[in-house]
Amino acid sequence: MFDKTGVATPEMLKEIVPSEERRKRGPYAVFECFQKIPCNPCQTSCKFGAVAVFQDINNTPQVDFEKCTGCGVCVSNCPGLAISIIDETYSENEATIKIPYELLPLPMVGQVVDALDREGQVIGKAQVIKVQSSKALNKTNAITIAVPKDQAMLVRNIGLGGN
Ligand code: SF4
Ligand code: SF4
Repeated sequence: MFDKTGVATPEMLKEIVPSEERRKRGPYAVFECFQKIPCNPCQTSCKFGAVAVFQDINNTPQVDFEKCTGCGVCVSNCPGLAISIIDETYSENEATIKIPYELLPLPMVGQVVDALDREGQVIGKAQVIKVQSSKALNKTNAITIAVPKDQAMLVRNIGLGGN
């Protein structure tokens, strides 16, 4: 399943992204939740009914991309920090990525930060578009960044050290 680093492989990622046609229509959720664990806040927090954890709570969640609006509510509710929201329609050359972010301090809107891949390697720069700070104890802060479109499926974290 995972490679030896524990990072999802390209084959695994192919299974969880919507069709190219859907990707062109607007924001969508990417659930990088591959392990069978007893968990379903993604399902209970989605008011659009877009997430199904079929029959057994240990099953991995399935997203109905025709129902998913890319609202991002599930991002802050997922204890596994497994969900991101991608919007490839943001501009001609850039996509936005909303990611959960547990570190402090939070970045500022407009700040240029390091764009990190799943393994934590710096692969470019990103601009912070939105910062959502959650005061609820069981919810996670979320950061939206803009990156070059071809990095939309690569960038999954940020670093504040490289400004
Ligand atoms: S982004 Fe919104 S609509 Fe899509 S799965 Fe998450 S909560 Fe549901
Ligand atoms: S809330 Fe997160 S960790 Fe839990 S099942 Fe959903 S995607 Fe997986």
